Amino acid sequence: MRNKKAKLKKRSILILVIILIVITIVIVNPIKLYNKYQLKNLGFSDISVETILNNGLKKQVLELNYNKTLDKVLESPDFNIKNFDIYKELEYIEFDNYTKNINSLIDKGYTKEEINYILKSANNDSLKEFLEKDYVKNISKFLQYDFAILSNLDRYTAYQNENNIDSELVVIYVNIGLDKKFYEDVTTTNVFSYDMLVNKYHGVSEEFEPKDIVDVPEEYGKNQKLNEETLKNFIKMSDDCKVATNYKLMVRSGYRDLKEQEKTYNTYLKTYGKVYAENYVTHPRFSEHHTGLAIDVKAESTDVFANSKESKWTYENAYKYGFILRYKKEDENITGIKYESWHFRYVGVDIATYLHDHEMTYEEYYVRFLNK
Ligand SMILES: [Zn+2]
Repeated sequence: MRNKKAKLKKRSILILVIILIVITIVIVNPIKLYNKYQLKNLGFSDISVETILNNGLKKQVLELNYNKTLDKVLESPDFNIKNFDIYKELEYIEFDNYTKNINSLIDKGYTKEEINYILKSANNDSLKEFLEKDYVKNISKFLQYDFAILSNLDRYTAYQNENNIDSELVVIYVNIGLDKKFYEDVTTTNVFSYDMLVNKYHGVSEEFEPKDIVDVPEEYGKNQKLNEETLKNFIKMSDDCKVATNYKLMVRSGYRDLKEQEKTYNTYLKTYGKVYAENYVTHPRFSEHHTGLAIDVKAESTDVFANSKESKWTYENAYKYGFILRYKKEDENITGIKYESWHFRYVGVDIATYLHDHEMTYEEYYVRFLNK
């Protein structure tokens, strides 16, 4: 009897266990599956979904919808739940060791706003270097600008201390390079583009080849060469100038190779001395004339371009043909070149129109929009 009772007890326990298992499978598993389905459906990866469920973050994550930054940090072994509220506010930008770097920035005391600015202005190298420093105060005043560069941060601070100008201008001027001497800290390129910047900080290499260099027709300039697109637009401009003023525009000097610029510089050096030569002729490799996009324009009616009928018309209309007067009187401190009433640069109609409408130098345009 006793044995039978014990057997019965054993059996009911077994049945209870089985029922519990069945309940678990039938009810809990589908809930878990449904949770996973919901999160995956939003776009989170399998690993992220595991992390979300293991840390009880499902409700918060579902409220946020998909968030690429979160997806990336949740996948990482460096994910730290105490930083969750900051992670979710960050715009995702790809970096090596993303989560680890963000944790370090948070640990150093940077706010989510500052971290967004830091990431936007950094690359892998500059971020690594920045993380080796202690907390830097007031970074937002410079880094809030889209075109700020993290590796220039110390230079921004130094330049503002010396010059007492507002932070946006500091970022622009330092990015141009104005806190350094001409030809001191230069970049060179061997790649041609219609929006390339050539000045005393940006040169072309010895191997540089400009694109589509063609002869200028005799009636528009003697023994001159230019980039083909530049020439086409110059001829259009010249012909329209003739209709408006009775005189056409001519090319006095167009494309120059490195040897020719060297000759020009040396002639100026001998004839007028160092100071004059430095002011009026750029060093070989740093002249816009190497690109085939620059033209020293000559008036047909007179030898002095500045006060001619042709120049007056050209200053007002050049942008419509894609040209800008490159070295204006009021921009000498930015371009590093003394006023040249005759030197035009082809940048295309869109950029020329923007510069015309905003009265902006090409240097400023370049650091604002092209230097990323
Ligand atoms: Zn020139």
